[in-house]
Amino acid sequence: MTALPRFVVQLHDATTLHFDLRLQAGEVLRSWAVPKGPSLDPGVRRLAVPVEDHTLAAGEFEGVHEGQSRGSGAVIIWDEGTAKMVRDEPGHVSFVLHGRKLSGGFALTRTGERRWILVKVRDEAARPGSDIVTEQPASVRSGRTWQELRASRKPGISEANGGGAQPDGRNSQAPE
Ligand code: MN
Repeated sequence: MTALPRFVVQLHDATTLHFDLRLQAGEVLRSWAVPKGPSLDPGVRRLAVPVEDHTLAAGEFEGVHEGQSRGSGAVIIWDEGTAKMVRDEPGHVSFVLHGRKLSGGFALTRTGERRWILVKVRDEAARPGSDIVTEQPASVRSGRTWQELRASRKPGISEANGGGAQPDGRNSQAPE
């Protein structure tokens, strides 16, 4: 028995809030950034931008990436489970997910340079008219939303209490 490949969908508050869909291929995670996230409605087409492969460890991350220039860097594991490949051809990938929120067939099809479209296959797991990312916003690991994760973050040390010499060390008017 060989374990099925994993999939993970992370919600990432970076320059723009987006979802990262990652499908295991051997020792890496093939990845697409999906700005609006996946849908269980087969009538909904979602832009998916291919990004570089990520490590398996990256797909386990839930927390706050420090030092991001924009966005809070918060990442939650929005869904995860197993992914069974159905077709894997240049410019077209279809697969069956068994996750906590996402299940059934999905297809990714390349429609342009760095532009793919993610759609739910019409099957028994399809839920026309639903909006799963709004209905179930929280992490499947912690139950927290990305906003709750961001709010729990400690204040940055560099922002607290100066630290380091001031340009002019003299205090002509001492405080207090
Ligand atoms: Mn990302």
